Amino acid sequence: LFRELAKPGVGDSRGLSCLSSSSIKPIRATLFPGDGIGPEIAESVKQVFSAAQVPIEWEDHFVGDKVDPRTESFLTWESLESVRRNGVGLKGPMATPIGKGHRSLNLTLRKELGLYANVRPCYSLPGYKTRYDDVNLVTIRENTEGEYSGLEHQVVRGVVESLKIITRQASLRVAEYAFHYAKTHGRQRVSAIHKANIMRKTDGLFLKCCREVAEKYPEITYEEVIIDNCCMMLVKNPALFDVLVMPNLYGDIISDLCAGLIGGLGLTPSCNIGEGGIALAEAVHGSAPDIAGKNLANPTALLLSAVSMLRHLELHDKADQIHNAILKTIAEGKYRTVDLGGNASTTDYTNAVCDNL
Ligand code: NAD
Repeated sequence: LFRELAKPGVGDSRGLSCLSSSSIKPIRATLFPGDGIGPEIAESVKQVFSAAQVPIEWEDHFVGDKVDPRTESFLTWESLESVRRNGVGLKGPMATPIGKGHRSLNLTLRKELGLYANVRPCYSLPGYKTRYDDVNLVTIRENTEGEYSGLEHQVVRGVVESLKIITRQASLRVAEYAFHYAKTHGRQRVSAIHKANIMRKTDGLFLKCCREVAEKYPEITYEEVIIDNCCMMLVKNPALFDVLVMPNLYGDIISDLCAGLIGGLGLTPSCNIGEGGIALAEAVHGSAPDIAGKNLANPTALLLSAVSMLRHLELHDKADQIHNAILKTIAEGKYRTVDLGGNASTTDYTNAVCDNL
């Protein structure tokens, strides 16, 4: 399972595998602490990385207080340049006000950095009991289009329209990523999740592209599952699934459902894969305004995301060390955060992970 977390495809490697982490120069990585609980859990990652002596030098970037005309959002151009230059980064959650305001920060990052695939591994954690102990799946979400294209307008008073864009290019790209991921991670099956019975053109094109790519991977079983049925199957028997690939909005929703199967949003990491091999890791969850500033957040999801960033850099020894310390801390059960039924603070839990390194 360790190796499951967002590994890049062939050609994405940054060629550091031959270097032992103790002998290499520090690697620069961009860090967006983000909003809400973001700064608290980002601090936790910094503390654990420092205790594990991970050779990463963080370049902190904060969301600006005015719109940068070059990004048309509160994200500064310099912060995007930092990710482009470093090729890797870690992102805390960024809040998006509902129904108003500037261009979404998350959309800006995805568009500007060409983050075309969002990889979300989800697996049962040993020692943490939920209804299932055999969840082990990966959702791969198309990250640039669909209903997230930001094309909404009022047609006439009382009628609004939102455009769902699906392109052959983006669908082939994410399907290729999903099959390649399955092949290189010992996975057997790819399920394309869709609603092509109703969205005949858009989801129809998405499926057509998945089928085309599937033909290139005869060793991987390919199936198509309608999204409503997929939800039912996931809740009844998640072990039926292996790798799931799907358009943007479905990926957003299904991955939260999957998080619920293993204990909640505090546990599920992700990694955004972009053009030129960029990897921007982030937790699946949002800024959790209800618990922000209270030292209650579970930093596991961001820590595991940071572990996926280390795997992208091929720093597997450090990634394993931190991953094992997280699993041990959760399995021991003494320092679990409130979302997992414990009463440890973010700080208590972080200290326990450091002690288990
Ligand atoms: P959320 O994921 O922030 O919170 C949902 C629930 O899960 C809340 O009860 C919260 O307390 C809990 N939760 C989430 N993360 C947790 C953690 N690490 N530890 C313990 N509990 C945790 O979703 P929301 O409330 O719908 O969204 C809040 C804001 O976050 C919105 O502005 C939304 O747009 C934004 N958001 C951002 C991202 C992102 O940056 N990638 C993703 C999702 C939502």
